[in-house]
Amino acid sequence: MISTDSSVTSQLPIKVDVLIVGGGMAGLSTAYYLSQYAHLKTVLLEAKRIGHSHCSSSGEERMYRRMYSSEYLSYLQEKSLQEWRSIEVKHNCQLLRSNGLLFYGDVWGEETIEGSILGAKRVMEQKNIPFEEVDATAMATRWAMKPHKDFIGLYEMSAGMVWAHKALQLFYQEALAQGVTFYQEEAVDRIIVSSPNQIIVKSTKGRLFAPNKIVLAASAWTNELLAHFQQNLELEIWSMLWGYYQVEKGEIEHFPQWFCFQKANPNTGDGGLYYGFPCHDLDSGLIKVGIDWCPPKYRTRTMADFRREPDPKLAQFLDRFLRKNWRGIDKCVSLQCCPYTMTKDTLFVLDRLPQFPQVTIFTGGSGQAFKFAPILGKLLSELVLEQELSVDITPFNIQRVQLN
Ligand SMILES: Cc1cc2nc3c(=O)[nH]c(=O)nc-3n(C[C@H](O)[C@H](O)[C@H](O)COP(=O)(O)OP(=O)(O)OC[C@H]3O[C@@H](n4cnc5c(N)ncnc54)[C@H](O)[C@@H]3O)c2cc1C
Repeated sequence: MISTDSSVTSQLPIKVDVLIVGGGMAGLSTAYYLSQYAHLKTVLLEAKRIGHSHCSSSGEERMYRRMYSSEYLSYLQEKSLQEWRSIEVKHNCQLLRSNGLLFYGDVWGEETIEGSILGAKRVMEQKNIPFEEVDATAMATRWAMKPHKDFIGLYEMSAGMVWAHKALQLFYQEALAQGVTFYQEEAVDRIIVSSPNQIIVKSTKGRLFAPNKIVLAASAWTNELLAHFQQNLELEIWSMLWGYYQVEKGEIEHFPQWFCFQKANPNTGDGGLYYGFPCHDLDSGLIKVGIDWCPPKYRTRTMADFRREPDPKLAQFLDRFLRKNWRGIDKCVSLQCCPYTMTKDTLFVLDRLPQFPQVTIFTGGSGQAFKFAPILGKLLSELVLEQELSVDITPFNIQRVQLN
């Protein structure tokens, strides 16, 4: 496509080594790793503000776990935890909180978007990851729970949470300090591909860039950018409800980090998957909770159609679930919706564009990418720099059938 835009032809583009598009988890972790190469001129464009409330990376915390049904993802988490810990040491900060994670609920022989209790048990046994098995009575004794008598639980004591907002800020501050240039509230407006070897990027503020390499880390907005390369991926954007509840003082210390698996009920529309975090600030008495399914009517192809307002019916499902299954639940304090960018197989896209190897892409976080932030940033930087990869990323291949 040859540009006929006179603003593009009349200006001299700024030459950069790497242009990163998107300042969420993936873009910032890539900026952090690339900033360690002092000779590189790296620029990051973020359409809004870093960590803004409409992106997938917003909020205080995210779960991490090796308790996966996929041995590969469990291994990837191990690699990522090594990176998280060396970042903590290097910058003398705490980004992980190892407070354990309880997987509990029904067992019905199917995998959900978060895996399954049996699958997680199998992988933990294979990999010698320590865990405890707990029945309904033990759960009700240990935590503020009212589990169904047939529910079973697995407790991975070394799992926990990532301080997500703090991690984004650290990636941003460190990359900035090492010389990465950030333009916030400045989106990629056009990508002009005049030949496979010549790509010019125009921002919404009219700046032109001639990058040697591009990293597309735009998550739910990916297909708008790929359209400039005449490409499209099979991605769905799910509107995911989460929020904060007040908990009674007597029970607040008895909330673990948890994920509940239940079979979806097509008659009521209840998708069955719920999660929650422990209280971080006992004075506030607040816990973060959420629903981990999205009804088909709120699955869209673009962010233009994204459902931002919490659906009262989904809010009611969450409320009913919490009151039925947990003790001490008081009032709902806030609710909001953020996007999951879903692939059909819930695996990420992490690759180079086949016809444009100078363009590296990450998308399809599928509600589970944050815990992998450092290893993803490292892998993206290795792809950009054409280095040997730290981990085999074949499962994230962009040409797999599930994406086309
Ligand atoms: C409610 C919720 C709970 C989650 N829980 C967990 C969890 O417990 N554990 C876990 O590991 N993961 C979890 N995840 C998933 C994880 O947070 C996401 O997979 C991850 O944050 C995705 O990061 P990203 O950088 O790909 O996308 P984003 O954070 O969405 O970043 C993309 C950025 O690109 C920018 N952008 C878009 N278009 C342009 C453009 N044209 N020009 C410039 N910039 C542009 C956007 O503004 C945005 O800031 C959860 C996600 C959600 C929503």
